[in-house]
Amino acid sequence: MGVTVKLDHAKCVGHGRCYELAPEVFGEDERGHCTILVECVPPEHEKAALIAAANCPEDAIKLARS
Ligand code: SF4
Repeated sequence: MGVTVKLDHAKCVGHGRCYELAPEVFGEDERGHCTILVECVPPEHEKAALIAAANCPEDAIKLARS
């Protein structure tokens, strides 16, 4: 059981909210777009990942519980 994170690269435009809110889960590429650092989110970072996904203005981040 855990949370997995997926990114829709086509939607991401690089606001940077995700990696500011959950820097343990999301990183930034050279254009400021999101990169996934950990696909399976450790329990201690789940809350931050949820907050980051909810704050993406492009709805580019999907979380799923597996
Ligand atoms: S907040 Fe959304 S649009 Fe902005 S960098 Fe993160 S995934 Fe991309």
